[in-house]
Amino acid sequence: MSKRKSIPAKIRLEVFKRDRYTCQLCGKSPAKYPEVDLDVVELEIDHYQPISKDGNNSLANLQTLCRQCNRGKGNDESFNITIKDKIEDLLNKINPKILQALQSNKKVRIVANEVDYHELARLIGVSEQYRVEVIPNTLIGYRAGFSLGIYTIDDNGGAKVNFFLELK
Ligand SMILES: [Zn+2]
Repeated sequence: MSKRKSIPAKIRLEVFKRDRYTCQLCGKSPAKYPEVDLDVVELEIDHYQPISKDGNNSLANLQTLCRQCNRGKGNDESFNITIKDKIEDLLNKINPKILQALQSNKKVRIVANEVDYHELARLIGVSEQYRVEVIPNTLIGYRAGFSLGIYTIDDNGGAKVNFFLELK
């Protein structure tokens, strides 16, 4: 009756491995909470495009979600905002030149608002797609970053963080 075919164990493992055993919506991972019961973060395989809407069991259509996010998502594809998307949205918010520069250089120097930097560092810690390296004590005054790299376009006048962002 059901069209749903079970996902082969090997494919499941490949998806978990590709996604670094991390929920692609909320970033939770059993590997990151070794002190708690592993059941707290139970990982499942989700279909990007649901089977009921002609989605298949190919690697590209599968992603790792925690049980809680998977229940919340159900068949609603509008929840398909991945950590990768969130990082790219944030980079574009800081300055749309960053993603362009990353394509040609792999490593760019950025000056961002402290708040944006901390959110970026958190997301990157989850995805592990990028490496960040803070450059200490190079920013003295307001807008000093203009000569140092790609500067945030959303300057709030507050503290800035100067860092390298590198594609792994
Ligand atoms: Zn989750």
